[in-house]
Amino acid sequence: MYFKTIHLGDDMKKETILQFDTSVARKKPNSVHRKSLCPFCESGGLAEILDTHDSIILVKNKYPVLDDAFQTVLIETDECESELSEYPKSHLYKVIRFGMEKWLKMEEEDRFESVLFFKNHGPLSGGSIRHPHMQIIGLNNVNYRDNLTEDYFIGLEIHSSNGVQLNLSTKPMIGFTEFNIVLDDLDQIEQAADYIQKSVHYVVHHFNGRGCSSYNLFFYHWIGKIFIKIVPRYATTPLYVGYGLRQVFRNPQDLIDEMTKHYF
Ligand SMILES: [Zn+2]
Repeated sequence: MYFKTIHLGDDMKKETILQFDTSVARKKPNSVHRKSLCPFCESGGLAEILDTHDSIILVKNKYPVLDDAFQTVLIETDECESELSEYPKSHLYKVIRFGMEKWLKMEEEDRFESVLFFKNHGPLSGGSIRHPHMQIIGLNNVNYRDNLTEDYFIGLEIHSSNGVQLNLSTKPMIGFTEFNIVLDDLDQIEQAADYIQKSVHYVVHHFNGRGCSSYNLFFYHWIGKIFIKIVPRYATTPLYVGYGLRQVFRNPQDLIDEMTKHYF
């Protein structure tokens, strides 16, 4: 016979494909691509409120598109047009601390296999609402850590302080530019928040010489550490989509020098 059967991967590996409900997704408002009213400003636009801290609000997601998951939205501020890169330090620290504490608290609940904590910003980030917000999603049956390797978080150091490191990925998850922040626990959360804000500001204002409209921010709690990844977003390279080939820029030191010049 010409073709041989090929066994791909490990049969024991757990299934990590999430089911997405398109009927719920169709009802979602979209203030990024369509001009719909901002549901986080509109009075009565919010689903059940779970907790608040000053202008920060944690609510249930009104449009839970994922099966077997508990989806929440963390509204970062009551200022619709604001952005994480612009927050005064005091508000930045409040948002990051409140979010990380809620995320780690949800992790302790037995009903979740793991809990996602992330942010989409801009038209190419996968987000649909402009108003600054993040998401915390408890997954009943899926552990996101099954897909991680330590390589994803190592890189060339841009800066480190108080036991927290900011680096530029040398073995990124998808490719080109990924910033990583590594810390041991919440004691140094303000240092981590500063690095998040500087990285996001760099992405929005300086990346590739003119700034990038979109980014994602991801949090991971794994192997006794907290990892944070900031990813500028643009069309994903076809070499990754078609072949799983990741790329990095040949001259990473240029980016590091530019960031250092602006922020450190
Ligand atoms: Zn709004």
